[in-house]
Amino acid sequence: MSDSNRIIVIVVVCIFGLGILVGVGELLFGICWLIFQPVFESIKSKRLEKVAKKSPLYQELLELNAEYEFKPVKDTFTFTTETSSKREYDDFDFDAQFGVICEKNKKDFRAYADDVEFNNKLLSQYNREYNRIKERAKPHSAEMSVLEKNKLCPVTTVTIVVQVKYHSPKFKTRLNKSNKYDISRVGVTLDHAAKMRKEYHARRRFIERERSLMTESLRYEVLRRDNFRCVICGATAEDGVLLHVDHIKPVSKGGKTEMSNLRTLCERCNRGKSDRYYEGELN
Ligand SMILES: [Zn+2]
Repeated sequence: MSDSNRIIVIVVVCIFGLGILVGVGELLFGICWLIFQPVFESIKSKRLEKVAKKSPLYQELLELNAEYEFKPVKDTFTFTTETSSKREYDDFDFDAQFGVICEKNKKDFRAYADDVEFNNKLLSQYNREYNRIKERAKPHSAEMSVLEKNKLCPVTTVTIVVQVKYHSPKFKTRLNKSNKYDISRVGVTLDHAAKMRKEYHARRRFIERERSLMTESLRYEVLRRDNFRCVICGATAEDGVLLHVDHIKPVSKGGKTEMSNLRTLCERCNRGKSDRYYEGELN
């Protein structure tokens, strides 16, 4: 073996050896950490307990904590929907589902929203008093750790997680995605849903009323005014067509049942028009 080859072998062996040593070292360190970490923790907490016993600031904090009764609320609620097809999963409308969930749980959600609002208000007051105690502790001292550890941390925001899952029949694909909503959005969402519902019912009532106004006598008046001819192609009953009375602006789009919005159309012209309406143009 030449000298240069020997050097290469030695270098490779050294690198290997070092690697193994580092690996073994890390392993030993990990094991030691696992064994000693709880010991360190318990020593630390015992020390803090001792500090706490002697600390008048800690006693003050305990008294302060006893004065404050925050509402116990969970900070996250997850609602999961299982979809039966990939397409349904892809097209999933989170906002719409959030609306449905809000509607179903509105009583609970309103209560959670009230609870976090209550906690938020109370917390700012608590923090002011807590800071007054904290100011008197030495920075970075064990006493400061005791205070920080025993400070009250109420839930101040609730998150609604809307989750959707899909798995293919043989579980080859498992998909899931989610969207998060703050509880403060519940009110707006419910108001919006109520407004939409109101608008929908108002529109339904309008359509029913306008349709009921379409009487036989009004129909006859329109046909007579238009000389019993289709106003588009001029066809009459004598040409073998059926004449219809059409709303120029459809009722579904806000058109009223009154002479000025009615006209005679033959069946063909009426079918071609369907419920199309072009605002400000010839229709
Ligand atoms: Zn016609």
